[in-house]
Amino acid sequence: MQIERIAVGYLQANCYIVTKNNKTIIIDPGDEANKIIEATKDKNVVGILVTHHHFDHIGALREIEDYFHLKETLKVDGFNYEIIKTPGHTDDSVCYYFKDDGVLFSGDFIFYKTIGRTDFPTGSDEKMHQSLELISKYPDNIEVYPGHGPSTILGDEKVYFRLYLKK
Ligand SMILES: [Zn+2]
Repeated sequence: MQIERIAVGYLQANCYIVTKNNKTIIIDPGDEANKIIEATKDKNVVGILVTHHHFDHIGALREIEDYFHLKETLKVDGFNYEIIKTPGHTDDSVCYYFKDDGVLFSGDFIFYKTIGRTDFPTGSDEKMHQSLELISKYPDNIEVYPGHGPSTILGDEKVYFRLYLKK
């Protein structure tokens, strides 16, 4: 699996371009559609995934959908991954877990050395707790690709989860 990260918009949200077996998925087309199209126009784009519907993650969604004649979806044929519901940052937050590759796209749920805010509309501390409990059961060696900033390793982040869960 090949993962390309493009930081887009003034909040520098991560748009991921994920290619496997000559098929490509775009995750979180947050802004700067031109930049995303430039990076994907020669690829066989078969799906568009969104981790949650905050503007900095979907700002270019309509343009990308129109360009590739695709609709945002949860399931993409030809890709094998688990959709993990992880509400807390928003009620619609999901992670995409590609088990075969040991890769998780976490949106604004988990970041490098921190977790997502819960003080936006539909955010919930209680649900964040439950989602962290849930994701803590997943393997330590998973590579986490967040909605902002650098990637990290789930096992390292579990240390921070435990601090948060004690609060
Ligand atoms: Zn967000």
